[in-house]
Amino acid sequence: MAENGENSDGGQKTKPPIKKKRPEDFRFGPILGEGSYSTVKLACEISTGREFAMKILEKRHIVKEKKVPQVEREKKVLSRLDHPFFVKLYFTFQDPERLYFGLSVARKGELLSKIKQLGKFDVDCTRFYSAQIVSALQHLHSLNIIHRDLKPENILFNDLMQIQITDFGTAKEVTESDLETPKASSFVGTAQYVSPELLKDKQAGVSSDLWALGCIIFQMLSGKFPFQAPNEYLIFQQILSCRYELPDYFPDDAKDLITNLLQLDPLKRIGCPTCGGYDALMSHPFFKGINWDTLLIAPAPQVMLHLADNSSDDEENDDVSQITDNFDQVFMTELKKQASEKRKGRGSDESLALSEPDDISGFGLSACMSEEERERWMRKQHQSEWDYFAKGKLILKRGQLEKKRKLSVKVREFILTEGPKLLYIDPVSKEVKGEIPWSSELRTEPRSFRIFYIHTPNRTYHLIDKTNNAMKWCKKIDEIKKFYFGRK
Ligand code: ATP
Repeated sequence: MAENGENSDGGQKTKPPIKKKRPEDFRFGPILGEGSYSTVKLACEISTGREFAMKILEKRHIVKEKKVPQVEREKKVLSRLDHPFFVKLYFTFQDPERLYFGLSVARKGELLSKIKQLGKFDVDCTRFYSAQIVSALQHLHSLNIIHRDLKPENILFNDLMQIQITDFGTAKEVTESDLETPKASSFVGTAQYVSPELLKDKQAGVSSDLWALGCIIFQMLSGKFPFQAPNEYLIFQQILSCRYELPDYFPDDAKDLITNLLQLDPLKRIGCPTCGGYDALMSHPFFKGINWDTLLIAPAPQVMLHLADNSSDDEENDDVSQITDNFDQVFMTELKKQASEKRKGRGSDESLALSEPDDISGFGLSACMSEEERERWMRKQHQSEWDYFAKGKLILKRGQLEKKRKLSVKVREFILTEGPKLLYIDPVSKEVKGEIPWSSELRTEPRSFRIFYIHTPNRTYHLIDKTNNAMKWCKKIDEIKKFYFGRK
């Protein structure tokens, strides 16, 4: 398998030598997804800070499963694609065990999960995303490439909630004549979206992708597959006889479009070269109102933007008056004890000593910590799944806290690094949800063993440490504030 640098096109022209990338050039973060042959991880290029979705394939597994041609095909096809509605391949490289594909990051999940979340899409939303898929297919087919496994799992979203079509392992490059009369293909694809010609004659052409488009439009509007049965055999029977029912509530123009896409005869499918090509498809009444020229920059429908955001924490002010937690009596006693010990000059620092493994005791850091010591901590940190978020900085404290805002409580991983920076991350999706802004005005307020506040000029963060270490957090934050901003 050839190793290459930036988007090799296999051409003959002499190119300036490109420095090959290596795994050490990246800081690897959380897993974005797993496929049958790969793991896709978020990766940050250390020298540039750029983020990629790094698809990592185990060579041994690929060879054992006889998937080398599939991987080569994916690389070749992706290298040819440079369009906003497709995942982009920036580079590939390898080490003795693995192959690495550096892809653009599609952070907002799959079309399938969005359909499941909403139950079904409204007509405007379906129109918008159907148009994006049509535009993407037009580009793909203009390059004589057929996807052959188009389905909502393979349609991802970027931060702007634009589609990013992925998974080109079963894609095929075809000749002009193949476009008209497809050649025999082996079975590829997914039962619910597979075209009748592939089942019957083992042939797949551009029309097969248009069949899948018809299935996807049906699914967006209804939340269901057009062809559904208890097993694949029965699904195939339905496909072969084109047996499906259009729900009454589908608008007439959608019914008409789906009917024209789900045609048994691939040559009669709207959008294929023998049936008006993309001009006919794009001027279908269902797409009335779509501006094909500005589709690339058109904002996503509100409902989708909301869906992309609703798990995130916007920076709206907390209404602390709504916080109703009672003061913990034991905590009050402890505070009083510490105050009295301080008065006696004994200090209470011992009782607050920071000892958990993810916590660097005594904020000496760059100032007092020896280089060697710092290196040791950094090495330890490199093995942690949170290292990625520190962006090369030393993590000074880390742990899970509940973040309360109005009536909602969200679990977040808090990471306090040099800088200083205090980030909070969704521990499941591993998405950075926000950052508590540092300034000399930042102030902590322990309220109980579990509860503490961080006051900033614009917002008060209400945090709950279920391990009863709220005071340790406050102490650490106060130490860091003192180090960076001095005493107020
Ligand atoms: P399979 O052949 O089983 O579909 P595969 O090994 O070819 O899988 P992909 O489908 O390419 O792997 O990727 C696996 C998962 O990783 C995807 O379902 C998706 O959730 C995630 N993923 C892939 N590419 C990206 C990307 N560019 N950005 C974000 N997530 C991605």
